[in-house]
Amino acid sequence: MFENETKSIFINGKWRNVDSQQTDTIYNPATLKPITKVAYGGANETEEAIKAASEAFQLWGEMTGRERSRILYKAHELMLEEVDRLGEILTIEQGKPIKEAKGEIKGAASFLLWYAEEASRAYGEWIPSSNKSKRLLVIPQPVGVVGAITPWNFPASMITRKIAPALAAGCTIVLKPAPETPLSAIEIVKILERAGMPNGVVNLVTGDAEAIGNTMLTSKEVRLITFTGSTEVGKHLMRESADHVKKLSLELGGHAPIIVFDDADIDKATTLALASKFRNNGQTCICANRIYVHDSVKDIFTQQLTKKVEKLKIGYGLDDDTDLGPLINQQASEKVQKHLDDAIEKGAAIVTGGDKWSGDMEGYFYQPTVLSCISDDMLIMNEETFGPVMPIQTFTDEKTAIQNANNTDYGLAAYIFTETTSRAIRVSEKLEYGIVGVNDVFPAVAEAPFGGIKQSGVGKEGGHYGMDEFLEMKYVSMGIE
Ligand code: ADP
Repeated sequence: MFENETKSIFINGKWRNVDSQQTDTIYNPATLKPITKVAYGGANETEEAIKAASEAFQLWGEMTGRERSRILYKAHELMLEEVDRLGEILTIEQGKPIKEAKGEIKGAASFLLWYAEEASRAYGEWIPSSNKSKRLLVIPQPVGVVGAITPWNFPASMITRKIAPALAAGCTIVLKPAPETPLSAIEIVKILERAGMPNGVVNLVTGDAEAIGNTMLTSKEVRLITFTGSTEVGKHLMRESADHVKKLSLELGGHAPIIVFDDADIDKATTLALASKFRNNGQTCICANRIYVHDSVKDIFTQQLTKKVEKLKIGYGLDDDTDLGPLINQQASEKVQKHLDDAIEKGAAIVTGGDKWSGDMEGYFYQPTVLSCISDDMLIMNEETFGPVMPIQTFTDEKTAIQNANNTDYGLAAYIFTETTSRAIRVSEKLEYGIVGVNDVFPAVAEAPFGGIKQSGVGKEGGHYGMDEFLEMKYVSMGIE
């Protein structure tokens, strides 16, 4: 499926490697075997890519929305034709089960479709003037060259969620994917190429994150950086963009709570909690990190949940019946172990799991784990675990549950399970989060705004809000006499 070396730098319509032939080996996280090598680019390649994007902006930015949308529609079709192949590539480089990988590819394609539709709907405004001899117009215009930096946990959908609205708006792009998962990025760029994207509109640079990032940050041409990743790197990008007053769109870490009220449908609640926590092996920024269960339903919730968790099958992502793949790397495995050790030391009890999985593969597999006897001072209740460990704590009144849920610097997603509509509305309004799921743990869809508050980020992705990020509203004041 893969050559020994894969061309991974795409600038001004041409695929190549770096001049110095420096490479980076990509590993399958399940087997720890090398898959292929990609180019290790840096400042030079990024500068060239920015120049190409800047030149292409003249043409792309002036095309009509309808012209741009045709290419996005085509890319959407091409991506759906290849769900199986692209899903396999995603599983091989990232580890997630094939059913989740194919789901991600379909999700990635849905952003292309949504923004193909949205490209011709960037409306301006005609403001009624208080002066008879003037006319006041607001016209939306593309921001310019965009630097897009993406993570490894969703190697396909995090890319299209950024570049589809940017392209629809008329922006051009320099994309830097995560070093762990460049192969899905390469495939997406190839699809855009086949769909007829003009040269220079989308450019791809793999390699040295810091060098590529710094070149984007210090370039006057790059007008906006759109980033998904850790809060730490997000803060760095924010600080360093100050010199050129760049626009930023940041999707950072989360620490999602689930509140299970006493009126919840427990069968549904346990299925949803499991889906939220163990999807992508817990490596999702909106994954539940803390579960607060009403004291009166804690026993039944824990029993039902544990039964379902114990049925999950760990294994190789390409096997159809696998539910949990490996963690992405050793660092991820160490973090899970650290959170678990800390919780146990502070009094947590293991309900199920609690150890590495010793199967027949080399990768960093971990048993799906449920913990009880949880206290607020445990690391797992305060830091993002990014792994398959679920701590369950109890509460007795609604007010305390909300306070506990809000007691964090993060504010990405929160979930509540209840069958009472008034409670659903009341609690949703009080939760300090950008996204609230009520009896729903899959809120991320192309047509709705996804984004955090507090230290979970700035800006929105998805829906018409997602396209607004890439548009400047120019005000034209016209004297007509
Ligand atoms: P994670 O810990 O989940 O890998 P990161 O925030 O480190 O999250 O990575 C998200 C993305 O940010 C990746 O593409 C990574 O290469 C990139 N990245 C990491 N450090 C920097 C940096 N200093 N400048 C620009 N991009 C960076």
